[in-house]
Amino acid sequence: MSHEPVPGGPTTIPRERAERIARAHACVRCREYSYRRVAVKPSTPALHEALGEVWHALLVCGVCDTTQELGIDADGDVVYVG
Ligand SMILES: [Zn+2]
Repeated sequence: MSHEPVPGGPTTIPRERAERIARAHACVRCREYSYRRVAVKPSTPALHEALGEVWHALLVCGVCDTTQELGIDADGDVVYVG
């Protein structure tokens, strides 16, 4: 009975846009935008429930090597940074 947006759904931004949004997010430690790895995958039902995210991005900074995670919702807003 869920009407929540899901990855790939008609009301959800595509993965490519979620990846661009993730890359446009500055590193939490060094404030650079130079990521050596960006992986965007569909959120889990638990994270979607808790945070409203639809896409979950894993970023590895190319400058300071920090790994951070982003949650991105169906509208392309960042709802979580960790
Ligand atoms: Zn960094």
